[in-house]
Amino acid sequence: MGEGRKEVRSMDSVRKAKILLAEVTPLKQDCGRVCGARCCESLEGEETGMLLFPEEEDDYENLEGWRIIPAGREMLVICPGRCSREDRPLACRMFPLPPVVTETGITVRTDERARGICPLTRQGKKGMDPAFVAAVQRAGELLATEEATKAFLERLTEEQEDLHRLRKQLGGIRG
Ligand code: SF4
Ligand code: SF4
Repeated sequence: MGEGRKEVRSMDSVRKAKILLAEVTPLKQDCGRVCGARCCESLEGEETGMLLFPEEEDDYENLEGWRIIPAGREMLVICPGRCSREDRPLACRMFPLPPVVTETGITVRTDERARGICPLTRQGKKGMDPAFVAAVQRAGELLATEEATKAFLERLTEEQEDLHRLRKQLGGIRG
């Protein structure tokens, strides 16, 4: 590490991002009551896993009812289908508005995987609580200060761009 460079461990940036998103939610009221918490439902015969940020698996290793499975170079956590806010993975705290890496820095965009599941994606961030949008933006900036978490955000960004292109090709959007 070069002189003067601040050391930030991945777990620190992930933990701080989780704290930033501990209280805020996409809407001021519980949006799960509007849609029946569709993002927490698994399809029949399937288990839905959430991507874990670097070293975030440490939080779930010994948590009853949670399982961690590898998925390529990432790790997924399979949740029990209900959770307390304090146990909620970072990906769920940001859903449906992940931070992405652009040429000019971090920005937040509607999650391509959430379209068709989450009613909030119709309006995008304009329809969400500004405090939530700002907290995800700040969390993304925090995650981008550390090498492993920034690389993770870059991989997420690539995935989002691939899905966007695919949706465009299939005629789902014009822009
Ligand atoms: S699917 Fe969207 S509206 Fe429903 S609980 Fe999840 S984030 Fe909220
Ligand atoms: S971890 Fe919690 S918020 Fe995330 S999908 Fe499972 S029950 Fe829903």
